[in-house]
Amino acid sequence: MSIDKEHIFKRKRVYNLTPFTLLDYPSKTACIVWFSGCGMRCEYCYNTDIVESNGNYDYCEVLSFLYKRKGLLQGVVLCGGEPLFNYDKDMFEFIKKVKEMGFLIKLDTNGINYEALKELVESNLIDYVALDFKAPKYKFQYITNNNVKKFDLFLDSVKLLINTQINFEIRTTFHPNLLNLEDIQEMVDLIDSLDYQGKYYIQNFMESQNNFGHLKKEFHQISFDGLKSKIEIKYRNFDN
Ligand code: SF4
Repeated sequence: MSIDKEHIFKRKRVYNLTPFTLLDYPSKTACIVWFSGCGMRCEYCYNTDIVESNGNYDYCEVLSFLYKRKGLLQGVVLCGGEPLFNYDKDMFEFIKKVKEMGFLIKLDTNGINYEALKELVESNLIDYVALDFKAPKYKFQYITNNNVKKFDLFLDSVKLLINTQINFEIRTTFHPNLLNLEDIQEMVDLIDSLDYQGKYYIQNFMESQNNFGHLKKEFHQISFDGLKSKIEIKYRNFDN
């Protein structure tokens, strides 16, 4: 049986589109492409619908949407779910076409599809990466509900991004029931030992109707004052 390439390209991989954002691509006007699916089930994840859904839009539909925004927006944010969860040749071609339209591309990823990230970075298709650092290795499975062996792929992704000198940030979502100060220190020390020179963002858990771990916002926040780091640490969504 022959395979119809056009048909494959019309597989629905995208859950939704956000036509405009000033918040999701540093210093750029952008839109967001939300990809369905993810191999993880992070306890704090509130995008449960996106993670568990099939897509609603195929790549052709997304490209027509983007075509109308050529010259009006600077960037496109690929997020999800995990954008690289269903990575294949079609997705590569899709991203190439987005780049050819003149958009800057930001990728939000958990970093465990190392091979896909490598191919995209080495093809100069990605301009900025926001890389999730979920947990130290000893808590990786507990927090992500994914195999701890994937932690090593995440680390390979960190090394790749450091070595290629691409513009990227490392970030961690913090909930005091999942991580403590010692865990964060362990994580900071690890990326420091890899000679990470960028900023490390600790972002507060955002309460929502759904998350996989049925977590609530805790009001007994810990203090990060005791953290020792050469890396610049920034805090997002904390009250002070
Ligand atoms: S937070 Fe975790 S489960 Fe949710 S999309 Fe990101 S990697 Fe997947």
